[in-house]
Amino acid sequence: MRIIIPWTKEDLDLLKECEGKNIEEIILLFPNRKRKRIIMKCRDLNIKIIFSPKGTKWSEDETNLLLKVYKDKSAFEISKIITTKTTTSIRNRCCKLNLQINKLEYHYDNKDFITCKLCGIEKEYTGDNFPKNSLICKECSNKLNNIEKYKRKHNIILDFNKMYNTYSIIEWYEIFRTNKIKCIPKEIFTNENILIIIKYVLTEILNKKSRKEILEVSRKELYKYRLAGMLTKIDSNYVNILNQIFPEFNYKIWEMNGVIGHFWEDINNVDDYMRWFVENEVKIVDAKNEVSRIFTVSSLRSINNHILNYLLLSMKWYSSYYEWLNKLYPEWELTTDHFKQNIAKDGETLDSMEELKVYEFIKCDLLFDIKTTNNTSSKDKFYNLDEKENYVPDFISKFINPEIKLIIEYFGFWKDNPDNHIFIEYHDKTLRKIKFFNSLDDYKFIGLFPSDLKNNFQGVREKLTSFLLENNIPIPSPLKEVV
Ligand SMILES: [Zn+2]
Repeated sequence: MRIIIPWTKEDLDLLKECEGKNIEEIILLFPNRKRKRIIMKCRDLNIKIIFSPKGTKWSEDETNLLLKVYKDKSAFEISKIITTKTTTSIRNRCCKLNLQINKLEYHYDNKDFITCKLCGIEKEYTGDNFPKNSLICKECSNKLNNIEKYKRKHNIILDFNKMYNTYSIIEWYEIFRTNKIKCIPKEIFTNENILIIIKYVLTEILNKKSRKEILEVSRKELYKYRLAGMLTKIDSNYVNILNQIFPEFNYKIWEMNGVIGHFWEDINNVDDYMRWFVENEVKIVDAKNEVSRIFTVSSLRSINNHILNYLLLSMKWYSSYYEWLNKLYPEWELTTDHFKQNIAKDGETLDSMEELKVYEFIKCDLLFDIKTTNNTSSKDKFYNLDEKENYVPDFISKFINPEIKLIIEYFGFWKDNPDNHIFIEYHDKTLRKIKFFNSLDDYKFIGLFPSDLKNNFQGVREKLTSFLLENNIPIPSPLKEVV
């Protein structure tokens, strides 16, 4: 069966560019087509080509060799002996000298090894390795095709020996970035090279060098540099990508914009964050002295670490930094003494310095009997069914006659206009808590805010006094001054 491969527009364009070239050269560009067909097509399209290659002049030695070996051999077999001549040239020469050679061409079944004229590698002569009647192996033919394609389509010159490595991956990226090619050749589009490209964009184009500067570049910003597809190919998680490029920086997910809300509902993430913080902020050799200095709500606030305070005070995975650090670093052998700042005059441990102040003021100064919920029994835990949240209030107080239970909660992170996602979350949770505590039949509720601590606890005094008056409870003497 004869298969005729139709000529594509690209093929015809390429053929037109062959005007004036030698047929032997042209054949190399169309390894799937018969010589005869190429010649016919050129004739059809009036493309003038050259038939007798340059330098095909036969030397006396070559002619003598031909005379010696031609018998019973095909032009192809002879071309393996007289390697300086093409099969056409051999056929023409034999014709001229009236030498009868074997008309049958070389067959794949003949099983033989042939050295490719381009790469010089000896390969078995099979259809897998060589196009029919060609002394250039398939691999090399494909290379030639690709070289031609890149030249024709994009005006990019590839070196035969280096192929895609003719240019560095960065050079390829620049060609791609400036829209000269639709994609980087798949042969060099490896994950390793993509990482090199992303690093190049970050450190060279955007000129970001430090850990912090790189962190500030968002994934979206990189899309402007035609990196969207590459980023997706590597990993959906941008933190993982950055860590592959800059393992020395060891980025954490919470350092990127927007840790998703549910993230802190996994205690492993919470602990991971503490470990990260300790590694970066605490001199482990002097851990005992360091913890007393660092792990108080106010000092964490002053070094701008709101997340730790938020996790302790709002998420309540742990009742204190003491408990938290002791679990993660038992080898430090911490005792409550190391967290002295938050221990009240009566020995009670409080979550934060502010909470301690509130506690001491209400209990010691106002002689108001309140209890912390630190060693919480289950009766001090509240479950908000509507929101599916657990709450443990800071303080609970009981008044025997009449029997009234009071919940006091200090919202130390309250801001009227929260400005980042942690405070916004806290803000919303506070509103939910207030609504919930106010809805309880068996409890009265007082919510305290940082502004209530101003002017020597004026807000605290006022809120407590009006609570006592409303419920006909005798006012302790230190509070009477206010009334
Ligand atoms: Zn080859």
